[in-house]
Amino acid sequence: MSPRSSRRTGAHRARSLGRQGKAKRRRRDLDEIHADLRPDVAARLLRQEPDPDLPGCAQFYCLHCARYFVDLTSMKEHFRSKVHKKRLKQLSEEPYTQEEAERAAGMGSYIPPKKVEVQTQPIDEEIEMEASS
Ligand SMILES: [Zn+2]
Repeated sequence: MSPRSSRRTGAHRARSLGRQGKAKRRRRDLDEIHADLRPDVAARLLRQEPDPDLPGCAQFYCLHCARYFVDLTSMKEHFRSKVHKKRLKQLSEEPYTQEEAERAAGMGSYIPPKKVEVQTQPIDEEIEMEASS
């Protein structure tokens, strides 16, 4: 009879607990970004009030990646980067939102998600100068 040795290391448990708590830097989910891409929402995000707490005072925002950039140059570089292109691809492949999922579950009239065309937002080259009042 060999004694059953239960090796209980709390290692993995401790790690998952450590991950919990306040998710300060929570990434936006793809479905949230889809909501951001609606023209009215997008317009608001691209024309934010200058916020000194955010990189570039919130004037350079990539809608698709939900990221702020310090200036137009770094934003343009980002648009050409792999991460951004990958994100556009992801967004075009997963166009369905939580709202749609709930509707599909509740009503039974499921409308399959359509492919959406996702493009990099146009860059506003002429950044309006702040009118001094
Ligand atoms: Zn991006």
